[in-house]
Amino acid sequence: MVAVDPIRLADYKPWPFALPEIALDVDLRSDQVVVTSDLSLEPLSTNVPLILRGVELTLDGLAVDGEPLDPSTWIQEGDRLTVTGLPDRPFVLTTRCSIDPFNNTSLEGLYTSGGMLTTQCEAEGFRRITFHPDRPDVLSRWRVRIEADRHRYPVLLSNGNAVQSLELGSDRHAVLWEDPFPKPSYLFALVAGDLREIRDSFTTTSGRTVALRLHVEAGDEPFTAHAMESLKRSMQWDECTYNLEYDLDEYNIVAVRHFNMGAMENKSLNIFNSKLVLADAETATDGELERIESVIAHEYFHNWSGNRITCRDWFQLSLKEGLTVFRDQNFTADLHSAAVKRIDDVAMLRNTQFREDAGPTAHPVKPSEYQAIDNFYTTTIYEKGAELIRMLHTLLGSKRFMRGMATYVSRFDGTAATTEDFVQAIADGACANGETLGFDLEQFKRWYHQAGTPQLTVERSWEARSGRLTLHLRQQTPPTPEQPVKQPLVLPIAMALIGSTGRQGEERLLVFDQEEQVIEIGAVPGPQPPALSILRRFSAPVTLQMDMTLEETLQLLAADDDPFSRWEAGQRLSRQVLLARAAAEPDATVESALIHALRQSLVDMDVQQGSELAVLLSLPGMAELEACQEPVDPLALFDAMQSWRSVLGCELKSELHDLLEQCRSQWSQPWPKGQGARSLTGVAWSWLLAAGDAQTPAEALNAVSGPSMTLARAALRALQRHAGPEREEALRVFYDRWKDKPVILDAWFGLEASTPRSDGLKRVKDLLEHPRFDPLAPNALRAVLGGFMANVPLFHAIDGSGYTFIAEQIVDVDQRNPVTASRMVKVFSRWRSYALERQLVMQEAIQLLDVPALSSNTREVVVMLKA
Ligand SMILES: [Zn+2]
Repeated sequence: MVAVDPIRLADYKPWPFALPEIALDVDLRSDQVVVTSDLSLEPLSTNVPLILRGVELTLDGLAVDGEPLDPSTWIQEGDRLTVTGLPDRPFVLTTRCSIDPFNNTSLEGLYTSGGMLTTQCEAEGFRRITFHPDRPDVLSRWRVRIEADRHRYPVLLSNGNAVQSLELGSDRHAVLWEDPFPKPSYLFALVAGDLREIRDSFTTTSGRTVALRLHVEAGDEPFTAHAMESLKRSMQWDECTYNLEYDLDEYNIVAVRHFNMGAMENKSLNIFNSKLVLADAETATDGELERIESVIAHEYFHNWSGNRITCRDWFQLSLKEGLTVFRDQNFTADLHSAAVKRIDDVAMLRNTQFREDAGPTAHPVKPSEYQAIDNFYTTTIYEKGAELIRMLHTLLGSKRFMRGMATYVSRFDGTAATTEDFVQAIADGACANGETLGFDLEQFKRWYHQAGTPQLTVERSWEARSGRLTLHLRQQTPPTPEQPVKQPLVLPIAMALIGSTGRQGEERLLVFDQEEQVIEIGAVPGPQPPALSILRRFSAPVTLQMDMTLEETLQLLAADDDPFSRWEAGQRLSRQVLLARAAAEPDATVESALIHALRQSLVDMDVQQGSELAVLLSLPGMAELEACQEPVDPLALFDAMQSWRSVLGCELKSELHDLLEQCRSQWSQPWPKGQGARSLTGVAWSWLLAAGDAQTPAEALNAVSGPSMTLARAALRALQRHAGPEREEALRVFYDRWKDKPVILDAWFGLEASTPRSDGLKRVKDLLEHPRFDPLAPNALRAVLGGFMANVPLFHAIDGSGYTFIAEQIVDVDQRNPVTASRMVKVFSRWRSYALERQLVMQEAIQLLDVPALSSNTREVVVMLKA
């Protein structure tokens, strides 16, 4: 086993050189790529050695100011090139390397995807292209010349503006790119290939015309309109909301099939996973269209939050990601339904980030050390990071927060900053007119360093005679690895009182920053206390413990004016029902009350409020339920969900058929209009199918060959747990229809792998051998293995066969894609929360991961699991 020294935040030192300019010459040849780099270096102190990073590079030449270097002055060891005896004045270091992108399966640096060459440099991929410090606080202006065969690589792209194109004879050509904005190496990008271009333009508020270009493979041109419109909406939104304009003459987006992540914000040359570019209503679901819109926006917003102001080091990752997620969440909320967006985001946070916080890989938004930074592209850095910024926004109010953002941008534009810089700038901007902050800024910063989900406990006392209502608040954050003791945090708590006819009085914002606090709410006269609506809009990312009567919960569900709190009340009851069913003790009182409330919602709300109604009807996620159960019994929870759907389908049968009738007339409405009706259809189908309704199987099967991908996929999902012949028929129809479109076929792979069949494990193994399965495409791999891990009865089979299979797959995937493998390991992270019998078989599977050849990425996670 190889021990890797961790990188520590406390060890940060600025790089001892400035690197204001880089000239890169990339010569693409048929069998290799020759990269010549001129680094303009300025020593910032005397006599320090120059240390550059390089991985899998063949060094062919090294010179200073054009003079080849004496071999005694430099040494190449591992991934380090150390040069000594350098001049004490500015100089140019030239390196000439050859690399082999054609056999690079790491999906980092320069590699091939479907005949094109493309890059991925975040976080540390640039060192696979040439020698460079490869750290985010070294910012340079770049000139990049790309030379290649004219026929094989007619399109040559890099960052910035194209300033020159050259025909070189003998079928060679070259393009020169210049990026005037200083940027670190992780934002470098290069694409070469035979791509089709779709062109549009956008005029900024100040009158600059920006050429917008999407580059896709031949045949994919018809599926680009949605991405292009999304880009224009993003540009406009950032101008209107943050007063931030785009800064170059062109903006390029390239769709790549072999891509490990969603998308990458390389300056002016975004590289996207094809599934997040190519879409229309026939080929993508409503959810996918919305996700594409938000990811296009996310990467675009990075132009300011990430590119113009970048991270000083990788410990600051949330500086760009938390802020940019916060920005893209607000973009989607502004364009669509703010309530539904908030509910979706909270459900996601609870099912992923809270789960991470409760396990062995829990870490703060700003970690203090890491071995592989790739392991820290987590939901904690992204989604919890966004929640911290949302809390600042809540505490300060929109106007003051925006002033803070303006201060942040003007103070740090063109530099690499820290999260402390950000928080301080927000506070300074917010208080620019002499206002006080209203909370303790130093205490707020604890949110960045303290891992774990705080538990907020609320107890109430109400004096019937005076109507005096008092809240007793307590907060406590459970211990996490290496953080046994926690301190109290600043919690913004939005609250209101809800009577039978709605909100009574104004909403209040409590700032709770002690371990314990008693807060007088004042006199609330009446025959009984009003219902307490607390943590409205989920004003702080905490778990709430509060005794609430069934009547009170139903009152919130019926009358709260905050849609989030209404949804939360429904979820509270659904959790109670499902956990009781999983324990084989169904709670008839809560069940009938919830059925009554849901029936009322189905009657009161109509298909015009489809998206709001659909989230109200949605059941809590598995991970969220597991967090409430001890020991966790995944099979019992799975069965509880299915039996409850069946009860809902029986009890609400006539209301659901009425609803379907309304929905059908909206099915053909294009996104986003018909989205609500289609979501409701999916819910109705899944409940009616579970209840054995006679008409639904045929209607669902029919939708699989219909014009809407949303309905087709909703039908396939609903049919997944249906034992009749329609399930297999639906999967066959879908496969036959889309077998030539890999982006869509991935959905079929995922559905096949997640269908709970008795011979499911064998079927999943067959999928990995399927002629249309591309093991080098991360999307396909994630579809099959991710689908299987979500297949509760198979993955959690008590004989351990599912765990063993996934462990073997992780070892295999790790050999070519450590980033994906290390993420998969996290599926075992909660092994301690299961019953002993299950713990033992899970441990056996984890044991299989202990192989000497494991990558350091994956090993780091395995070690955390065992700790
Ligand atoms: Zn991002």
